[in-house]
Amino acid sequence: MVAAVKWQKLEERCLRCNDCGLASSRTQVVFGSGSLVSRIMLVGEAPGFNEDRKGKPFCGRAGAVLDELLSTINLDRRQVYITNVVKCRPPGNRDPMPEELVACSPYLQEQIELLQPEVIACLGRFSLRTILRFFGLSPEVSLSQVHGQVFTPEGDLFQTVQIVALFHPAVATYRPEAMDGLKKDFAVLAKI
Ligand code: SF4
Repeated sequence: MVAAVKWQKLEERCLRCNDCGLASSRTQVVFGSGSLVSRIMLVGEAPGFNEDRKGKPFCGRAGAVLDELLSTINLDRRQVYITNVVKCRPPGNRDPMPEELVACSPYLQEQIELLQPEVIACLGRFSLRTILRFFGLSPEVSLSQVHGQVFTPEGDLFQTVQIVALFHPAVATYRPEAMDGLKKDFAVLAKI
């Protein structure tokens, strides 16, 4: 099956998904968007209010921050692939629950297998811990200690993947002074 067909079938399956309780409160599933041939994948946590309405990841205020951060390293969202760990909005933007993360992880895993990115930028702690676990690394890390760092899984299968720990862009929507730190961390993406 060609990659485009595999992507389409995965998205169709995800859009019909009822595998966790978030199915009952969502407006729509937010599968992901961007380039299906990009070497860079950005993984956020879960859709928020605007994403749930529009069906696209990072289209609210955090999305505007993300666009600004990408522009500082001469990228725009058409050049990367963006998705979330959890594809449906948790009510009131609460944190995803462990059973929701487990239920939704297979979609992200298949997206990674299809895209085969060389760089995975994890936006927020849920994303970082999920991705580290996928690649056999310890998820027991504190984002405030490892932000801006690059993790490189060992083993033949993973030798081209680099995992970058980043704060979620939403941080800058309620703490504008965090923007400088976010820009510094995003510069790591440009370096690698
Ligand atoms: S969050 Fe994921 S597992 Fe839960 S219903 Fe949505 S797509 Fe399915």
